[in-house]
Amino acid sequence: MAEPMLATHGLTRDFRGFRAVDGVDLAVAPGTVHALVGPNGAGKTTLFNLLTGFLKPSGGRIEVAGRDITGLPPERIAARGVARSFQITSLFPMLTAREHVELALQGRGRLGWRFWRSAKLLDRYRGRADELLAMVGLDGLAEVPSDALPYGRKRALELALALALEPDVLLLDEPTAGMGMEDVDRTVELVDRVRAGRTVVLVEHNMSVVGRLADRVTVLQAGRVLAEGPYDEVRADERVVTAYLGA
Ligand code: ADP
Repeated sequence: MAEPMLATHGLTRDFRGFRAVDGVDLAVAPGTVHALVGPNGAGKTTLFNLLTGFLKPSGGRIEVAGRDITGLPPERIAARGVARSFQITSLFPMLTAREHVELALQGRGRLGWRFWRSAKLLDRYRGRADELLAMVGLDGLAEVPSDALPYGRKRALELALALALEPDVLLLDEPTAGMGMEDVDRTVELVDRVRAGRTVVLVEHNMSVVGRLADRVTVLQAGRVLAEGPYDEVRADERVVTAYLGA
């Protein structure tokens, strides 16, 4: 493999003596979509939180494009080009879809309040915000307060907020959770569209979505890597079938 875009080496996280992530080695090649799957409690969320710096590892290392990011705080990891899709709970009910994206763009720009007044800059933010909204299929809904967006469209807005950071590595936490079939299909198309030029890591329960999107799959069980490989291979792995059936 070319140098991984994202790699972990023996990554471990303990919660008061309980090992939720246990020596995980992960290597995600640049430009690929890599799915993390596994039964409830396998450690997927904890691993995601370690990758974004929301949790500190108890042991092991994390590298982005060969550079060590272990133990860095979330904003420094984001500055290295790693972004996760925001959670709906972090949306502001009264702000419109466009205002959310404009704020995300401003946050990234780290521009002081003086620049906030610059009409030219505001125009630029607006233009880029509208491009991002169009990319996730929210053109036409730019002026709608986030509260009034249907569930699937809220999730699309979260994705636009992550894309505003122009990440090299995009982390998606259950992008189709709670969606009906139509929104699931839309989301698969959307992820397929935004993956261009990026590396994507997703946690996903829906195996049909994993099969449609992922180049490779890592199966976690009880904090450890149970299997890793292309979707078809992993799916046919007897240990994986057993882990899922709980047999
Ligand atoms: P998954 O996302 O695969 O369902 P999690 O990463 O949420 O798994 O959880 C893995 C294990 O770690 C579970 O047994 C869970 O109870 C435990 N765990 C997760 N977060 C904490 C925490 N903050 N404190 C104690 N235990 C935790």
